[in-house]
Amino acid sequence: MMISLDQISVKQIKGVSAPKEQELHAFGVQSVADLLDYFPYRYEDYRIRNLADAKDGEKVTVLGYIRGVPLLQRYGKGKSRLTCKIEIDGWLVTAVWFNRHYLQEQLTVGREVMLTGKWEQHRLQLTVSDSEFQGGSSESSGTGAGGKSAKSGTLQPVYSVGGSITQPWMRKTIRQALTQYETMIEEVLPHELVQRHQLMARREAVRHIHLPEDAKEGQAARRRLVYEELFLFQLKLQAYRALNRKRSDGLALRVESEWIRQFAATLPFELTDAQKKVVNEILMDMRRPSSMNRLLQGDVGSGKTVVAAMALYGAVRAGHQGALMVPTEILADQHMRSLQKLFGGMGIEVGLLTGSLTERKRRDVLAGLQMGIIDIAVGTHALIQGDVFFRSLGLVVTDEQHRFGVNQRSVLRRKGMNPDVLTMTATPIPRTLAITAFGDMDVSTLRERPHGRKPIKTYWVKHDMMDRVLEFIRKEVDQGRQAYIICPLIEESEKLDVQNAIDLHIQMQQAFPQYKVALLHGRLSAADKEAVMGAFGANETQVLVATTVVEVGVDVPNSTLMVIMDAERFGLSQLHQLRGRVGRGEHQSHCILVADPKSETGRERMKVMTDTDDGFEVARRDLELRGPGDFFGTKQSGLPEFRLADMVADYEMLEEARDDAGELTGQDDFWTNPSYARLRALLQKDQIFQGEQLD
Ligand code: ADP
Ligand code: MG
Repeated sequence: MMISLDQISVKQIKGVSAPKEQELHAFGVQSVADLLDYFPYRYEDYRIRNLADAKDGEKVTVLGYIRGVPLLQRYGKGKSRLTCKIEIDGWLVTAVWFNRHYLQEQLTVGREVMLTGKWEQHRLQLTVSDSEFQGGSSESSGTGAGGKSAKSGTLQPVYSVGGSITQPWMRKTIRQALTQYETMIEEVLPHELVQRHQLMARREAVRHIHLPEDAKEGQAARRRLVYEELFLFQLKLQAYRALNRKRSDGLALRVESEWIRQFAATLPFELTDAQKKVVNEILMDMRRPSSMNRLLQGDVGSGKTVVAAMALYGAVRAGHQGALMVPTEILADQHMRSLQKLFGGMGIEVGLLTGSLTERKRRDVLAGLQMGIIDIAVGTHALIQGDVFFRSLGLVVTDEQHRFGVNQRSVLRRKGMNPDVLTMTATPIPRTLAITAFGDMDVSTLRERPHGRKPIKTYWVKHDMMDRVLEFIRKEVDQGRQAYIICPLIEESEKLDVQNAIDLHIQMQQAFPQYKVALLHGRLSAADKEAVMGAFGANETQVLVATTVVEVGVDVPNSTLMVIMDAERFGLSQLHQLRGRVGRGEHQSHCILVADPKSETGRERMKVMTDTDDGFEVARRDLELRGPGDFFGTKQSGLPEFRLADMVADYEMLEEARDDAGELTGQDDFWTNPSYARLRALLQKDQIFQGEQLD
């Protein structure tokens, strides 16, 4: 077998002495492969720019002509200050060199120079860190022979260094390693993936990430290597999961595609392609004898509920029961009604199980579930706990907020059930990010929204524009639409929230005497909430003043206006959720954020909301604003640390890599085909596979 670069010690590289080799170990670098994979974390930009474009205090590289006689001041002990007038892009600039007196003789009038340094515009001064003289040598030891130094006009890699390993040494050594070993760098990715994503070959990418000709090339190299890193990471997770899947302790539901097609035909709309794809993914899981653990993520309004309904329908027709678990009673109620509507005339019995049932009613439902008279139970968390028993629970769907954890699974297992589980969420990050990273779930995504939906127009106004906001509400309602007005959020005081809502309700009633203005808050009884939502859903009330109880899942397609008071008090994902209550029908919808944010992040949040109504983009920017540390609690997160990839910026690539890895490990011949031997060998090296049977 051919020797590979990870078997060659860095000692073999010209210029690496024994002490240097020892020091490199501290950076995790032992082999030539390690060194070549020691990527720069940024570049220094030595590309020539126009001084007019440079900001004060910025580091720039410029071209100029010497126009004055150099002036040298010495301070003793080899300290000196050398100055000279240079014409740069039409300005006469004072260039300053510290402790480089030997350059004096190079500074002859009329000569062309390339200078890199810190630009101080107010003084017209450039403090030089690097200089190169036309028709002569460069101050730094370059490639010699009258040529330019390695730096001229390029991007220079910056490595993490320390001790006696200096930046120039590292640059030189990696360059040398490339010279000696570049041709031995081998491709690790399967050919079809390189093609699919139009990636650079590994050999090229390694060269260009260290020595990019230009920014574009550097980026292409980085893209290739980021993909590789994410793909290999995902491959491990998925290969592990694929092995687990071979266990079979769940129910294999015999759901026929024909049933699902028939059901889809009863819907008043055509499913989107995304919905079809996701339904298929779910059905495939349900048919397997291992239990499904799938996350369905989709932006608000992307049509997750109907997907869930189809899965539940499949479970019931296959002879089992389903449960739909939601965080609030309002939602349980709403879902109950929409399922009854969807399943109308199909002979499917849907039961509601919430905390506010009378004891008698509750007993009936429990009996119904145990005997299998009720096919689908909708309710809150209590659904799967305590004294609730199903005849044969095949599928649990959980909507928003809850994540179906290991605990709940074991509760069910103890009851002798091991149903398929589908978790739905409208907030892709941070949860999904973590999930994607940990890979404990399969993920389906609805990115597309139903056809004909118009983007929600979002505005940010100050409080002093409230009159115009009221005017806007009036206009919408006069056209037959409905509006939500969300009260400010008072941190940690539900009581104050309620008081706020009551006050705002009174104000709105006064502002709109001609309309019915309703009030919804958390202190209302379940029956009252239901009545309020029912009336709003039926357009008996036109304006709904509410606290954040309407945040999740409420679906009234005729409402087209969402006004959020003191919007800066809400987090981005909450704002996006609230906004998602509108834009659910064919009419143009609007969201108005009323806010006078005092903080920079407050303003930034308003800006994100007005910039985009794509939940994935909102989530990404939210993560950017807060940083992953905030989301996950820095160190405890257990998130993997990538060499190159950035969980936030490279999120989409992470998803692609995950899909590719899933596809590959799902292929039977992945475990046997010789062309994947390299990848399998990589897996075999990994700890989690030790003791597993790979082939
Ligand atoms: P989500 O739960 O993802 O926020 P819903 O499932 O509540 O979204 O769907 C939002 C609205 O869009 C509902 O009124 C639903 O009936 C409707 N809807 C779902 N799928 C489609 C589709 N393919 N075409 C048109 N309307 C759809
Ligand atoms: Mg929903």
